[in-house]
Amino acid sequence: MTTDDPFHWRAGVLYAEDVSCEQLAQRFGTPLYVYSRAALESAYRAFDEAFAELPHRVCFAVKANSNLAVLQTLARAGSGFDIVSGGELARVLAAGGDPAGIVFSGVGKAREEMAAALDAGIGCFNIESVAELDLLDRTARDKGMSAPVALRVNPDVDPKTHPYIATGLAQSKFGIAIADAPALYAEAMQRPGLQVVGLACHIGSQLLDLDPFEDALDRLLELAGQLQAQGVPLAHLDIGGGLGVRYGDELPPSPAAYAARLKPKLAATGLAVHLEPGRAIAANAGLLLTRVHYLKASSARNFAIVDAAMNDLLRPALYDAWQEIVAVHPHNGEDEQLLYDIVGPVCESGDFLGKQRPLALRADDLLAVRGAGAYGFVMASNYNTRPRPAEVLVDGGNEHLARARETLEDLMRGEQLLPEAGNG
Ligand SMILES: *Cc1c(COP(=O)(O)O)cnc(C)c1O
Repeated sequence: MTTDDPFHWRAGVLYAEDVSCEQLAQRFGTPLYVYSRAALESAYRAFDEAFAELPHRVCFAVKANSNLAVLQTLARAGSGFDIVSGGELARVLAAGGDPAGIVFSGVGKAREEMAAALDAGIGCFNIESVAELDLLDRTARDKGMSAPVALRVNPDVDPKTHPYIATGLAQSKFGIAIADAPALYAEAMQRPGLQVVGLACHIGSQLLDLDPFEDALDRLLELAGQLQAQGVPLAHLDIGGGLGVRYGDELPPSPAAYAARLKPKLAATGLAVHLEPGRAIAANAGLLLTRVHYLKASSARNFAIVDAAMNDLLRPALYDAWQEIVAVHPHNGEDEQLLYDIVGPVCESGDFLGKQRPLALRADDLLAVRGAGAYGFVMASNYNTRPRPAEVLVDGGNEHLARARETLEDLMRGEQLLPEAGNG
């Protein structure tokens, strides 16, 4: 097995590392998320090694995949973590992540979340507004603590990605305008509950071009110089995540190419570098297995109705995202290929996993949706009262049930019927 191809064919059957996907589906049922430990580790290492010459920390963006076994795998490899909620904090701690390697991002941190992160001793709060700065200062002072902070600025560059995943434009809800940053840093330095440690940005997701990253870095560096001249004690620059991945015919830059483009400018600062990749570590380390329930032809379309739906994998419905769909055991040469819309059982026209895909299918065939390791399970819902899928982490020839399939009991937990009607 080569680590850059954890999912590959052996004797006409798709394998995850050394385990047949057909066998996984039989053992754990479908829909089923399957992750490769080797792929997660090698993607993490690609970033770690690309920035090896600089003091750096790779903080995996937990929102991309927050399964405990996935986080544990990355923690063991040495990863830090970028979290956006108290829930993600609890997951990282439960998975054995080092609190000092945690950065807390997000526009709406609640006081209790700040308090929990202070208690845990996280490495940095990335602050996105004056009001948030104020609340963190007060929360830390109440505890007799001083919170490590960076301000997340909005460099106002166009990342040329899907509008829903662009975050670095002036009209975005994320970050602080660069022009407002110097005054805010001056303010932060006056606050006894805050300790300024860094400067952060994150411009968007699934970026396939390095120019926006470099433009953002140029603006960040100009600001960093200004802040240092103003006496702000910066220790690190957080350049965010967002590096794109290959779902189909995209040609994303490698972590090495990304690093090569940014390193000369970063090295000149002498500051440590923090990275927050999510998708680029997890997307192609996972797939979603789903079985064909029925084939159905109308005058206009051939449908393959499968047991996974938009509630299990939302990206196609939400962003019109294209993810490769392959047969786990293709009937090559035996059956004619037709163009299929691969759709789920959910009662929405937008419920599809792929459209117009050339496949030779029979009922009960097993399909794999590739590139499902990031923004897959984490976006799953119980819409239509559908239990969320199981998740399995494969390691060589071993499979570990990382999360059991939800039961209907799980789904109804916490709900209460009305009391019996009284007779008064
Ligand atoms: C979503 C997010 C990331 C990760 O983005 P990817 O595109 O998955 O790399 C990193 N940092 C912040 C602040 C984010 O919101």
